[in-house]
Amino acid sequence: KMNTDLGQHILKNPGVATAIVQKANLKQSDHVLEVGPGTGNLTVLILRAAKSVTAVEMDPRMAAELTKRVQGTPDASRLKILLGDVIKTELPAFDVCISNTPYQISSPLVFKLLSLPRPPRVCILMFQQEFAMRLFARPGEKLYSRLSVNAQMWAKISHVMKVGRNNFNPPPAVESNVVRIEPKVPRPQISYEEWDGLLRICFVRKNRTLRSSFLGTTAVVDMLVKNYRLWCAQNDVPIDEGEAGTESMEVDSMPLQGEDEDEEWNGIASMDVDSDGDEVPDFFKEVLTKKKNTTKKSRGKVTDMVKEKIRKVLEDVTKLSEKRARLCDEGDFLKLLYAFNQEGIHFS
Ligand code: SAM
Repeated sequence: KMNTDLGQHILKNPGVATAIVQKANLKQSDHVLEVGPGTGNLTVLILRAAKSVTAVEMDPRMAAELTKRVQGTPDASRLKILLGDVIKTELPAFDVCISNTPYQISSPLVFKLLSLPRPPRVCILMFQQEFAMRLFARPGEKLYSRLSVNAQMWAKISHVMKVGRNNFNPPPAVESNVVRIEPKVPRPQISYEEWDGLLRICFVRKNRTLRSSFLGTTAVVDMLVKNYRLWCAQNDVPIDEGEAGTESMEVDSMPLQGEDEDEEWNGIASMDVDSDGDEVPDFFKEVLTKKKNTTKKSRGKVTDMVKEKIRKVLEDVTKLSEKRARLCDEGDFLKLLYAFNQEGIHFS
């Protein structure tokens, strides 16, 4: 009996399983990570073509079945099964990742693979169609998201093949696609956390202007102030803590073009996922819940200074203030990150 809550859709077509493993171009020396081996239809094929497999499986019944399948064969010693959630598991080094991915963890799995300090040579992953399309989406397209920008920043993404529902038992609701993710070599010389931190702010509402995403929300400003203080402390930059001037308080209460700050924020605060369907990280929740208690008067000179830096970056340096994240390409985000960092504004 399959547990579809765990995304258990077993690949029953051996031709498709063979094709997936072939597409990985495995070398006999490769260490392979397989996510969600299930009953082991891919696993046994991978073991034939590679040196070793680490398989991470959440369901103990599946793990037991796989153990039984290889028991007593020469393959047994080259397979290591880790029981647990792959997202929470500390992964050993590996050269290639292969997975008929349980659809619930598609997004966190890709983010985890892309942020590894030592990325694999290639990943061959099966996803539901819409998720695969998000990986490829370009600026202006409906599915363009934080995931698209991240994936395309760190890797070359290509489509391998479409796999119909009836190749699975039980058949999933929608078609699937196999995708190849090849992390760029050399890895782009920017911090993953900084890049992703910037994108999180821009894509909370991808249809807002960047000005509104950065300056229209107290929580974002507060977070950047906190990061700025930390950066100053680490770099021996003195901070002037004087009182805020009246001029800047007028700026603070300036109405936002066609956008109601409170309405927007109530919407986000009551939501545990961002537009990418990913969980909002704890630090973000923390600033979100604090928002209501922060009065404008208590926010001082440093806040004004940071807001002025943000304004300068958006309006003067990058001129991206009125652009919306859904239309920004990788180059725009890189420009933003560079300009913010030049001003001592950091996202991690
Ligand atoms: N690889 C097998 C195949 O192709 O026939 C099974 C693929 S099935 C789509 C997904 C597998 O991932 C299931 O065995 C499920 O128990 C497992 N799984 C689900 N969530 C997981 C998680 N968070 N970490 C590790 N494995 C998970």
